[in-house]
Amino acid sequence: MSETSDEYWMRHALQLARRAREQGEVPVGAVLVQGDKVIGEGWNRPIGQHDPTAHAEMMALREGGKALENYRLLDTTLYVTLEPCIMCAGAIVHSRIGRLVFGARDEKTGAAGSLVDILGHPGMNHQVKVEQGVLAEECAAMLSDFFRMRREQKRAQRQAQRAAEQGATPGSAA
Ligand SMILES: [Zn+2]
Repeated sequence: MSETSDEYWMRHALQLARRAREQGEVPVGAVLVQGDKVIGEGWNRPIGQHDPTAHAEMMALREGGKALENYRLLDTTLYVTLEPCIMCAGAIVHSRIGRLVFGARDEKTGAAGSLVDILGHPGMNHQVKVEQGVLAEECAAMLSDFFRMRREQKRAQRQAQRAAEQGATPGSAA
C-alpha cells in the first residue's frame, strides 16, 4: 500500500506529538509544509512554557513566519494530529495558509466543524481548504492512550498516598 504525502506528513506530526507526550503534555503535533519542505514544527506545550497559547499549531505557524520572514504563510499546508481549537483556527485564518489537514476530530473544542465551524464560516475573508481523517485512528489513539495512562497514574498515586497514611496511623505498625 503506497502512502500518500498527506499520510507521510501526518506521521511527521505524530512524531512531534510524541515529544509533547514525553514532556507530560497532551500529545498533539503540527507541521507546516511548503512544497515538500518543512518550514515549521510544533508540539503542544502550554504547561512547560507557562503559555496558554502554546498549542502545536501556534508553534508551527510562528516558526513558519520566521522561516518565510512573512506574516502571511501563503501556499502552505498545516498538518495537525487533532482538530484545531477556536484560537488556532483564528490564527490559521490570519496566517492565510492554503490548506489544513487534521487527523482526529475533537468533539469538545474542535473549531473545524465539531464544536463550531470557524474555518468554514461563509463570512470569513479567507477560506482555508480543510481535510480531515488522515491517520485519524492513530491520532485519536495517541490521545486516548495518554489520558488512560494519566488516569492510571493518578489512581496509583492515590493508592500510594492511602497506604502511606495508613502506615502513619499510630498502632498500625504492630
Ligand atoms: Zn489550539
